[in-house]
Amino acid sequence: MIQVRSFAAGKWHFGDKGSIVLVDAVNGEPVAEVDSSGLDTGAMLRYARDTGGPAIRRLTFHQRALVLKELAGYLLQRKEEYYALSTHTGATRLDSWIDIDGGFGTLFTYSSKARRELPNDTVLIDGPTEQISKRGSFVGRHIFVSRRGAAVQINAFNFPVWGMLEKFAPAFLAGMATIVKPATVSSYVAHRVAEDMIRSGLLPEGSLQLIAGSTGDLLERLTLEDSVAFTGSRSTGLALKQLPSIQENSVPFTMEADSMNSSILGEDVRATDEEFALFIEEIANEMTTKAGQRCTAIRRVFVPGPLVPELLTRLQARLQKIAVGDPRIEGIKMGPLVSLAQRTEVRERVAELAGSCERIDVKTEIRIDGPDKGAFQTPTLLYARRPFDNAAVHEIEAFGPVTTVMGYRGTEELVALVKLGGGSLVSSIFTNNDSIARTIALGIAPYHGRLMIVNRRCAAESTGHGSPLPHLVHGGPGRAGGGEELGGMRSVLHFMQRTALQGSPTTLGAVYREYTRGGEVREEEKHPFKKYLEELQIGDSLLTHRRTITEGDISNFAGVSGDFFYAHVDELAARESMFGRRVAHGYFVLSASAGLFVFPGPGPVIANYGLENLRFVKPVFAGDTLQVRLTCKAIRPKEGEDNGIVEWDVVVRNQDGDEVALYTVLTLVKKLPRVEQPATI
Ligand code: NAP
Repeated sequence: MIQVRSFAAGKWHFGDKGSIVLVDAVNGEPVAEVDSSGLDTGAMLRYARDTGGPAIRRLTFHQRALVLKELAGYLLQRKEEYYALSTHTGATRLDSWIDIDGGFGTLFTYSSKARRELPNDTVLIDGPTEQISKRGSFVGRHIFVSRRGAAVQINAFNFPVWGMLEKFAPAFLAGMATIVKPATVSSYVAHRVAEDMIRSGLLPEGSLQLIAGSTGDLLERLTLEDSVAFTGSRSTGLALKQLPSIQENSVPFTMEADSMNSSILGEDVRATDEEFALFIEEIANEMTTKAGQRCTAIRRVFVPGPLVPELLTRLQARLQKIAVGDPRIEGIKMGPLVSLAQRTEVRERVAELAGSCERIDVKTEIRIDGPDKGAFQTPTLLYARRPFDNAAVHEIEAFGPVTTVMGYRGTEELVALVKLGGGSLVSSIFTNNDSIARTIALGIAPYHGRLMIVNRRCAAESTGHGSPLPHLVHGGPGRAGGGEELGGMRSVLHFMQRTALQGSPTTLGAVYREYTRGGEVREEEKHPFKKYLEELQIGDSLLTHRRTITEGDISNFAGVSGDFFYAHVDELAARESMFGRRVAHGYFVLSASAGLFVFPGPGPVIANYGLENLRFVKPVFAGDTLQVRLTCKAIRPKEGEDNGIVEWDVVVRNQDGDEVALYTVLTLVKKLPRVEQPATI
């Protein structure tokens, strides 16, 4: 039997107060035992705050991202061990793939997104500089910094691996050490993966601790620096959120709770349309994947009234084809629920729903070798004839293969019905009419974290109603908890503190290591484009020579670019325009400014990488004289590569000193060549 130990303050721990035995969901055989008694939760918090957090924060965002990538690769090599354990929870191979490979995929995605979207630094700038004084000597800007406490993560039983990794990745990137508490019933799967994460040696010491079993008094000890990310039932979430330690210290508490997700068939769809078949397939998949134990599973199905009978008949037939049984048997598509206790819970909820609904009989045979000791629950299809008079169908979540079909008339009624769910994680809309798609999507978006719109144009590549993606928001308003567990870098920010800074542009730039327009600059003989990455400093600047723009420049640029827009080439039309006469092309001003600031010879600048925030703020006419100020704005070395990105602030002015164009140019700049040290004996 597996001993599911906790990992606390650098040591593995198993209590001695009498363990809980966890059994296989199919045959009831003992699999593992858990006992967290005697855990020193105070020491765990100190270890996270004083050892783990500081060790992670010594790494930049990019270095942390590379750790996640290596970790994902390390775990991927060991995945068959996790699959074997996952089967004990009742998961089919596909269910386990969603959990295990889905978890590793989340690490990979967070790693690559973080390297693209976060700076190679430890502080993140949020938004532009705010001009809050007349002369610009006093400005404002927001930054995000890492919170210094422990990121406590409490997970539901259904996705022991994905649930752990999708919270760990953003917390780690943000610079916080994690204390993870998997749901006890499937904790042996999370424990095995966590054991490998710690053993891998890839994580800085103290980055990850694990509680298998009860959290004891951990939550009562939280302070302002810590945070909680909770996934589970609404009742548990609300109880924990109201703990005095969390309330009084304003501990950030992200909650992902149960949700009455829906799927909708648009009024444009006919029973013979492709969208109708796609709709049935999606509902059947969502009901039976992971035996319906998914926070995103479809609990409510909304269909235009006249199509209800056809839908029920076809869905019933589709569900009867699903092979239910022991996931170890070839061809089984749906396994049991995670435990007998969970099945009792689901059956109680179904009985409550059935009181106000009609039950559509789904005939299913359960395939198992040996006596039935498993927590099997066959697909359960309900029909609510009067959905407005039936609060239960919008409120009671049976966390299993259970869904209720309802008819609707018109979009207004549909939106009102969907809203009765009280806020959900996701809804899917099946329509091939883009106007209907817009009306429904905008009508129900305020009550959802994610909407998926499916039709024949995208179905083949659709990622599915039930699959949260690391790139997109996973969370939902109201009953769904109000959280944002995933959503690319949005979820990283939940583990950081946003702070507004006020001061001089020079001083603020020094705090977050970025030149702020209006700050002091440094001019030297050496052209900044002749400096290697390590030689450059923020604020290095060049004021160029000047150039007077002529009629010939404008005509030539029109010829070279093929841009004969009337404002540049047609004097009569230009006179009628907002400019009053012919104006130089904005792209010419851009090109001419590059001509003024580049150093033409070969050097450490390898390439132009792009432009950002380009604004043409004033027109340029023939006869105007331009001059450019180029200033090194930010230096972003690339981890493990021989170059980095340098951002340059560019201000183009005319003869009156007025700004005519503003932008940031990005260049790739080489690092200093490495000098080979002679070998010493
Ligand atoms: P649960 O009973 O609420 O448990 C969730 C987690 O909270 C478990 O780890 C549980 O640990 C822990 N917990 C319970 N009481 C606690 C306490 N007093 N102090 C600290 N931790 C405590 O939910 P579940 O049965 O695992 O999961 C099913 C529910 O979760 C469903 O309602 C489903 O809709 C929801 N869910 C939501 C999402 C989402 O993303 N929104 C995802 C998955 C599931 P123990 O196991 O040790 O009790």
